[in-house]
Amino acid sequence: MSVLVFVEDWNGSFKKASFEATSYAKRWANMMNTQVVAVTSNSTTSSELHAYGADHVLQITLTKTGMGIAEQLGQLCNDAQGVVIAGTALGKTIGPALAALNNGSLSTNTISLPLSINPTEVKRGAFSSKGIETIELNGSLPIISFVPNSIGIAEITGEGETNSKDITGNDLMEITEVNVASGKVALPEAEAVVSAGRGLKGPENWGMIEELADVLGAATACSKPVSDIGWRPHSEHVGQTGIQVNPNLYIAIGISGAIQHLAGVSASKTIVVVNTDSEAPFFKAADYGIVGDAFEVIPKLVDALRAFKAAS
Ligand SMILES: Cc1cc2nc3c(=O)[nH]c(=O)nc-3n(C[C@H](O)[C@H](O)[C@H](O)COP(=O)(O)OP(=O)(O)OC[C@H]3O[C@@H](n4cnc5c(N)ncnc54)[C@H](O)[C@@H]3O)c2cc1C
Repeated sequence: MSVLVFVEDWNGSFKKASFEATSYAKRWANMMNTQVVAVTSNSTTSSELHAYGADHVLQITLTKTGMGIAEQLGQLCNDAQGVVIAGTALGKTIGPALAALNNGSLSTNTISLPLSINPTEVKRGAFSSKGIETIELNGSLPIISFVPNSIGIAEITGEGETNSKDITGNDLMEITEVNVASGKVALPEAEAVVSAGRGLKGPENWGMIEELADVLGAATACSKPVSDIGWRPHSEHVGQTGIQVNPNLYIAIGISGAIQHLAGVSASKTIVVVNTDSEAPFFKAADYGIVGDAFEVIPKLVDALRAFKAAS
């Protein structure tokens, strides 16, 4: 018996969310007194997975789409007491398909470790993350898909073994083109995000946003209208209909704080808002607020941060 964890990689390296998933699986497995089997297509650096709690690493040649991967994982679930999947774009397609194929009970948008086992009980974000609900997974195969960066990573001094297996799956669709976002820091995994909205007036003004992101090692993001008008790429659109982020620091510049925007960012641990309008709704969700003109505030902030970094 075991807890199965799906481990995603990108260009030969494991995603940060995959370490979080493995470490989630380990903590759940400890509650059930069982072991962790990490399933991955990449076994070259499997020792990294042992360090986050994988007792066994199973290398399989993964199909290209979520449906195919779900079918492959489903064939490994006979002995599984539970499955952990990071809620990445790929993970979000695997979870429901796996639950449907294996009669599993799935918690998406999960934001806690299991509160109990038998039945498995977890907390999840509900109503576009405006509420939190506690649910029980009563099926024979509980599947937990968690919000990346919401649980944290626990490193252990672990060892384990790596095996490979031949498992086939059918891709029911074909990926014909892939456009990779060009940002320096991947938005869904970023620990800090600098985001800007229509208050920036035009795409020519994003230089200061990129400078601020650069000095903080942050990813850049934007509100929906900004990507709709074409000022920024769609890969930067955050919110209810865009990417959901959960960084330690979210800086919102010239964004009003509409409910649909907040739905994708309100789980951020610290929110800083810069807006000329002291009545902007975003201030209600902010930990720190600056009422001021972004064109004055941001260059000063960049200078101050550079001076601070130079001095420390
Ligand atoms: C079904 C649906 C889904 C949606 N999904 C999303 C979504 O996923 N994400 C999303 O973002 N939106 C979404 N929206 C749109 C959302 O309702 C808002 O219209 C949008 O978030 C507003 O974008 P904004 O804050 O950039 O622009 P605005 O509402 O125009 O706000 C601009 C802000 O900039 C401030 N400002 C102006 N000048 C300056 C300055 N010089 N310095 C500092 N501040 C300044 C203003 O005071 C204002 O608060 C959705 C809407 C619908 C109906």
